[in-house]
Amino acid sequence: MTSSVDSKIKKTNSPSRIAQPGCSFLIQEEKPQNIFISEEWNEEQKMIYDMVQDFCKKEIMEAMLSRGREFEITKDKEEILQLFDKASELGLCGVSISEEYGGINLDFNTSCLFAEASAYGFSFATTMGAQTSIGSLPIVYYGTKDQKEKYLPGIASGELKASYCLTEPRSGSDANSGKTSATLNEAETHYAINGQKMWITNGGFADIFIVFARIDDDKNLSAFIVEKGFGGITLGAEEKKLGIKGSSTVQVFFENCMVPKENLLGDRNGGFKIALNILNTGRIKLAASTTGGCKLSIDQAVTYAKQREQFDTPIANFGAIKHKIGQMAVLTYAAEAALYRTGHNINLKTEEFLSQGKSENESKLKAIREYAVECSLLKVKCSENLDYAIDECLQIHGGMGYSAELGIEMGYRDARITRIYEGTNEINRMLSLAELTKRAIKTKEVDLVGAGKKIPTYILKQYLPFKSNSGWNQEERIVKNIKTLFMMLSGKAGQELKEKMVDEQEMVMNFADILAEAYFCESVLLKVQKLEKNKLYSGKDFDIRKKALQVYLYEAIDICRKSANDAINSWATGSNKKMMKRFTNKLLFNYDINVKNLRREIAEYVYEKGEYTL
Ligand SMILES: Cc1cc2nc3c(=O)[nH]c(=O)nc-3n(C[C@H](O)[C@H](O)[C@H](O)COP(=O)(O)OP(=O)(O)OC[C@H]3O[C@@H](n4cnc5c(N)ncnc54)[C@H](O)[C@@H]3O)c2cc1C
Repeated sequence: MTSSVDSKIKKTNSPSRIAQPGCSFLIQEEKPQNIFISEEWNEEQKMIYDMVQDFCKKEIMEAMLSRGREFEITKDKEEILQLFDKASELGLCGVSISEEYGGINLDFNTSCLFAEASAYGFSFATTMGAQTSIGSLPIVYYGTKDQKEKYLPGIASGELKASYCLTEPRSGSDANSGKTSATLNEAETHYAINGQKMWITNGGFADIFIVFARIDDDKNLSAFIVEKGFGGITLGAEEKKLGIKGSSTVQVFFENCMVPKENLLGDRNGGFKIALNILNTGRIKLAASTTGGCKLSIDQAVTYAKQREQFDTPIANFGAIKHKIGQMAVLTYAAEAALYRTGHNINLKTEEFLSQGKSENESKLKAIREYAVECSLLKVKCSENLDYAIDECLQIHGGMGYSAELGIEMGYRDARITRIYEGTNEINRMLSLAELTKRAIKTKEVDLVGAGKKIPTYILKQYLPFKSNSGWNQEERIVKNIKTLFMMLSGKAGQELKEKMVDEQEMVMNFADILAEAYFCESVLLKVQKLEKNKLYSGKDFDIRKKALQVYLYEAIDICRKSANDAINSWATGSNKKMMKRFTNKLLFNYDINVKNLRREIAEYVYEKGEYTL
């Protein structure tokens, strides 16, 4: 960020102190001033980002390139553990742990920034993610004072390495069906844990295992803090994986592992709730690290494209290459807008709950829960962005991308896991719709029914001539129309199919994709409007950002059109089908921009800067 932008930020209004409720983006109009944009990171936050990124670049990326191969847990365990120690010395293991227990307790949005910067550590990001997120947050949020005092200082200092054991061979997406059992002994002092966990990150060297197990015939799982030293634990061999080979992934077997009663975490039967809440946190952090991965892919692709010549020309000059770089930058730009808007809303909601007298942990948990839908949408879209970005980065490198020499093929393999863990993308698409429906119908937190009543009038207005296409008129209409499209189609399908709707997963996926576009389109529009309002950039610097917004909207219209048509063709018939198709076409109007030229200009801007700086 330039110093002139920095100085303008200081003069502009700080973001709103009022948290927008979760999911309300669908039915409420948000003001640009109310959203957080990444230009607003303060010096301290930027320092954290730089420190983490420098560490990852120097200790991991450069180390891998100079030795000519990636880290592999089966060959380099000692080196990986040394890296862990170095990261701990910098305080990186304690980012979400309060100072009282030796951590640095970053606010939620800054912890997302931390996750973005850690993407430069490739598989080590997964190692650190398990330590700082799923392996330790259950104790941070649900631990008793004694449990926190006993375990958190060691986790914050890196002396204790943490892991999270939910998945089992027969229980993956259906996590609450796990068979691992916990039985209280006769003396009622210990639970005997028996069972098998699978795909456990950090499992090969963990000292602490957060284990989810069922007590007797309980409906839900319970959670336990299990120390390696309790005995009764054996580890499987390191899994042979497609990617993230530097990260430890093993099976963990529990055979009469005797866990003191006081190591039950949270309430009996409350483990599944813990698992879900921790996964919500993990999802947005994964969105952050995948967005970091997109930026790295752009930087690597640009460096290579500028120096590689074919037909006596740097390949960067070819339109086909500019298209790829431009599109990578556009997707990353929109993702960043949606990501940090949500992270900041979580911060604001936390403050709101704190001011109502709730405890710090309860406030944080409730705030994250509030944005569960947004977290799922972010996880899905950002992990899919990374797949696109690293795939095109590899393509731009041609044969050198396919070779192991530059590490691009490693990035390609590493990226693939992000669509699978923290809830697969299919499960997250379905979750986003299920949670939204619950809030609209059961808890009535989001008045979709009320908003639905206004849809016919709104659509009729689309048939009237529009005053002008000046200013933000068209872009605002696109955002509003995509929201309306989502409400019209999902509402109509819901009315007709009722409870049968859950069996129509293909349509649920279509609706989730439209919902995600509504959120991302609005976020990137609000961001660019805020930049304009606050005059944060001028001339070309502003124009390029506006062009990124325009290309994003153009693409989103196409995604929504395909999803809408797929859904309508799946269930509607007769005049109903005709009407919905007509309305869809009206809402998704022709947005005439020269998308080729815009992408070219964006790519050339990135070339000029030498890296992604948007
Ligand atoms: C490298 C790696 C690290 C991991 N780290 C951990 C860890 O530290 N701790 C931990 O507990 N777990 C971990 N996992 C497990 C991970 O969370 C699971 O792999 C994931 O939840 C999916 O479960 P599964 O593999 O059993 O797939 P399944 O649940 O069998 O799913 C297979 C396919 O079916 C789809 N599917 C499943 N159910 C439905 C449905 N109802 N409707 C439609 N489609 C459905 C899925 O989307 C997927 O495409 C890790 C996994 C890997 C590969």
